[in-house]
Amino acid sequence: MRILIVEDEPKTAAYVRKGLVEQGYVVDVASDGFDGLHLATGTSYDLILLDVMLPGLDGWAVLQGLRRQQPTPVLFLSARDEVEDRVKGLKLGADDYLVKPFAFSELLARVQNILRRGSTQREQALRFADVEVDPLRRRVTRAGNRIDLTAKEYALLDYFMRHAGEMCSRTLIAENVWDMNFDSDTNVVDVAVRRLRAKLDDPYAQKLIHTIRGVGYVFDARAE
Ligand code: CA
Repeated sequence: MRILIVEDEPKTAAYVRKGLVEQGYVVDVASDGFDGLHLATGTSYDLILLDVMLPGLDGWAVLQGLRRQQPTPVLFLSARDEVEDRVKGLKLGADDYLVKPFAFSELLARVQNILRRGSTQREQALRFADVEVDPLRRRVTRAGNRIDLTAKEYALLDYFMRHAGEMCSRTLIAENVWDMNFDSDTNVVDVAVRRLRAKLDDPYAQKLIHTIRGVGYVFDARAE
């Protein structure tokens, strides 16, 4: 799951980003309204956390611009707790509104609520060969055996499962599993794939992650 934070206060942005990354989300940050709208319309996000008072375009304008193009869920984060502001945000099509300062646990609960509401497709268990992923509980099994993955390994497997049989280049994997500030050192991708492989493939005869030399990986049940 990919989340965009549009927030001009570096401390708040860093605090929220850190918390969400620890939960296994891929997080991008924009520090003004123009960048925020540009990213929001050019990338596929599952949720946008949007500050109201922003340099450039304010949060209302970002939301209006976004709503002309996309229905991405939006959670407003704002120090302005006037009732009319809240009503304005919701009328413009925001999904929720959280007043600063807030506890991270409350933000997380609201984020999870919106994501749960928004995308039933994301909630359905994914199955490929004898691998099963339960996105709600973040539970992975192969041939019925539980496999414990780190947040990054889980995100990588989730990406592979959703693109089974397709050529996944290192660049595409990096773009989708890491955030936009990831420097294109795709060695990191190879290291993460190696770790995932050790848990998911090594104990089993049927390998699912196949290396395509010089390009990337294919996740499927073909013979080596
Ligand atoms: Ca602000």
